[in-house]
Amino acid sequence: MNCQKCKGLMIEEQRPELAPESVVHRCINCGLVLDPLIQRNRLSSRPRKDSFMRAA
Ligand SMILES: [Zn+2]
Repeated sequence: MNCQKCKGLMIEEQRPELAPESVVHRCINCGLVLDPLIQRNRLSSRPRKDSFMRAA
């Protein structure tokens, strides 16, 4: 898997503080973190004022 930003190598990294079994991808080159859980939530959730404020 390559970074969307710099095409660098991305490694899997465990993030127990986010979710017990969550694994994110982190770019070892630029530090970009891809969180599949957060991305899924953004896609599935409707644009409500509540989530909009949290994102900002
Ligand atoms: Zn990168």
